[in-house]
Amino acid sequence: MYKFEGVKTTLGCTFGLAVCLLGALHFQSNWQHYSTTISQLTLPILLFAAGFAAQFNRSRLALVCLLWTTLFASQAYTLPWSDWLDNNASWQLLCGAITLWLMSLMKDKALLSRHLLSRLVMLCAVGVSAHFWLISQATVNTWLANNPYANQLTPYVTFHAPLWLIGMLLFWRSLTQKCLTRATLFSSFMLWLGIQLNWLALPLDMVVVIVALVYLVTVSIDGYFLAYRDDLTGLPTRRALNQLSLSLGRKYTVAMLDIDHFKKFNDTYGHDIGDQVLKLVASKLTKVKSGGKVFRYGGEEFTVVFPSKTSDIALNALEQLREDIANYDMIIRQQNRQSKQSRRSNPPADRKVVNVTVSIGIASRQAKQKFEDVIKTADIALYRAKKKGRNNVSD
Ligand code: GH3
Ligand code: MG
Ligand code: MG
Repeated sequence: MYKFEGVKTTLGCTFGLAVCLLGALHFQSNWQHYSTTISQLTLPILLFAAGFAAQFNRSRLALVCLLWTTLFASQAYTLPWSDWLDNNASWQLLCGAITLWLMSLMKDKALLSRHLLSRLVMLCAVGVSAHFWLISQATVNTWLANNPYANQLTPYVTFHAPLWLIGMLLFWRSLTQKCLTRATLFSSFMLWLGIQLNWLALPLDMVVVIVALVYLVTVSIDGYFLAYRDDLTGLPTRRALNQLSLSLGRKYTVAMLDIDHFKKFNDTYGHDIGDQVLKLVASKLTKVKSGGKVFRYGGEEFTVVFPSKTSDIALNALEQLREDIANYDMIIRQQNRQSKQSRRSNPPADRKVVNVTVSIGIASRQAKQKFEDVIKTADIALYRAKKKGRNNVSD
């Protein structure tokens, strides 16, 4: 079953890019005076974006930057291959589209490593395949052209069909997983079509500058999430909690939450299933009411902060949360995964229902208390909740 976790990211990225392009179009009269400067700056900006992406191990975006660089440089300067590329626009369009799709299938690897060689070989293979595809279409074209019913279809079959197919595959890939790089690759594909098929009433250098800026923003946002989001649960980390503490007012309530007997749980079911449970508990925690903000404090401990809320309000929300978690039948997948065939014939075999409980300690900020003190008080309350027999909220 596919989960469309990347819908927001894909739409957000495409919308962001569309806004930039429309903005550039709308304010064309403002920046047109600087078109020479923009033209001169395009290549350095592109190379900077490629270097920036490579520095943060976003090798796919770095390579795609180089693709844009080739396109821009061959049009802006007279390079030995400029004429050849001009005369083979279909090949160029197809190669770029296939490359973007292949990049969405790959993982980021360090750019300057042995993987670079395999990627260069892949790019060459893309070039050769696109060339042979276009040549092979000559036969199809001749047949279609001689067929009175189908001669209108020629450009669709030879050219548009593969592009639509690639576009849909990229779109699907971007939708099924929350991944900003994939969403950016999909937007890049749309832009690549826009440029090559002259859909955009903007000069190439301006479009390429926008692309480079979008890549810089993508890498920066990815870097932010790397630092402030927990990889396993997707929750903000303790670092993000410390950041939030700087903006809290005088009144707030903090809850420390710990999964009961989790060590025993890991020993019984294994660490991988323990990880799955952590993810499920985290997803339940995000549904906390009364404006609670959830963080993974570390291990199987979580923190919920209720800005501007008293402990009574937080207590109600947390009591509800504790109950929801205790009653939550978590369906987990066993590690010894079967083949698709045997799973279909015997579906429940690799699934198991487990339950966990949590203990919660809460503390409201008292006058002159620092954030760390409130956390400490909540931790002491958590200790009391454990002492009381676990699966309860203590203040
Ligand atoms: P208590 O009810 O007193 O909290 O008992 P406990 O077993 O939960 O507490 P303890 O602190 O002894 O053990 C915490 C366990 O949580 C130890 C560790 O194996 C597990 N744990 C911490 N982080 C992770 C993680 O990321 N994944 C998994 N699977 N287990 C983790
Ligand atoms: Mg613990
Ligand atoms: Mg525990």
